Amino acid sequence: MLKIAIQAKGRLNEQSIELLAEAGIRVAESKRKLISRAEGFPLEVLYLRDDDIPQAVAMGVADLGIVGMNEVAEKGFPVEEVMRLGFGDCRISLAVPNTVDYPGLAFFNGKRVATSYPKILSRFFAEQGIQAEIHTIEGSVEIAPAVGMADAIFDIVSSGGTLISNGLVEVEKVFYSESVLIASPSLGDAARQEIGQLTFRFRSILESRGMKYVLMNLPKERLDEAIRILPGMRSPTVLPLAQEGWCSIHAVISEEQLWERIERLKAIGAEGILVLALENMIR
Ligand code: ATP
Ligand code: MG
Repeated sequence: MLKIAIQAKGRLNEQSIELLAEAGIRVAESKRKLISRAEGFPLEVLYLRDDDIPQAVAMGVADLGIVGMNEVAEKGFPVEEVMRLGFGDCRISLAVPNTVDYPGLAFFNGKRVATSYPKILSRFFAEQGIQAEIHTIEGSVEIAPAVGMADAIFDIVSSGGTLISNGLVEVEKVFYSESVLIASPSLGDAARQEIGQLTFRFRSILESRGMKYVLMNLPKERLDEAIRILPGMRSPTVLPLAQEGWCSIHAVISEEQLWERIERLKAIGAEGILVLALENMIR
């Protein structure tokens, strides 16, 4: 049976459990549990701190893990990145106090930079030929400049609100992260096959996100025009209506395109347009 490590609590916990649930796999919320058996798939779930997930997977304590790319890159353990999971987006950026003049990367030469991501930062500085002092601190990195511990910080940014409220400006976006499914490098064929079943479910869920199922009635003579407007997995489904000269069209449209397409369809005579949520898209 596969073992998957997910974050016990924190930013990735809920969405990891939700992704599994959408894939038909029910797991206990982590409260006070370290390990539990899932329902709906032969899977055991290990609840860990996100920092420990790359190592657990590299050691084979868990076969799989769901964790941010930032942790994978920082810890540097040998794990396989199986697929990106489309949540937990953030970036790690360099930020400086808003009172300093920022002339470009050369600013950091000889400066003290506080971070919880020393490896990613030292790799970046080495590539850029910058010589700075990197100070590793675990929490509240953003207050380091104000208390005189550092001249700048390298920290996770998602909206930027925390930086602003600490008088900091983001000056270099260095590392982009999202959550990923990682696998132990030493898995056998049977485990890989089971992982294939799991990733098949995850892929169909991710593909269906942001997609809508649209149905409408249309005069038959405008069908060719409608087909040109509508994208589809192959082409839209067309069904006859009891009323002579009319048909019903079904298609899948992405949320970004939805309203623009609907306006064009209305303009060629589409009526009774229904937009439905799409649960899964299996190719
Ligand atoms: P743990 O107790 O498991 O060690 P943590 O405090 O280290 O938790 P969280 O703050 O829960 O971690 O964040 C987990 C992950 O969520 C991060 O490593 C990152 O990949 C992602 N993430 C997305 N947006 C943000 C954000 N604004 N701040 C921090 N992490 C974010
Ligand atoms: Mg952590």
